[in-house]
Amino acid sequence: MPRNATSKTAVPKAKKQAQRSCVACRQSATKQQLVRFVRNKDGSLDCDPTGRMSGRGAYVCATSECFDAARRKQSLSKALKCPISNGQYEHLRVGFEAACAQFGTQVQNHHDR
Ligand SMILES: [Zn+2]
Repeated sequence: MPRNATSKTAVPKAKKQAQRSCVACRQSATKQQLVRFVRNKDGSLDCDPTGRMSGRGAYVCATSECFDAARRKQSLSKALKCPISNGQYEHLRVGFEAACAQFGTQVQNHHDR
């Protein structure tokens, strides 16, 4: 039985999606259900809906509850190992809500009243 086949047949069993856990509620989910935040090399923080930015990343469920909890409990700050100011949270929230909209998640907005 030939062992030198060109294709690598020794792949890990099942092809599973990368699971990440939300820093607020600790539930794991696929990346599609989580919004990534990243701390860039220069120390700036950004929402990274594409998941491709380099830097230290942390994930939060695409719900405003988890974003608020991550802020309240400073889970995001701890996960990214840096303090996050109110101004930065406002900046992140804008990106977060845009990402949630892309995900089709309902973020509680005031557009109903
Ligand atoms: Zn969560």
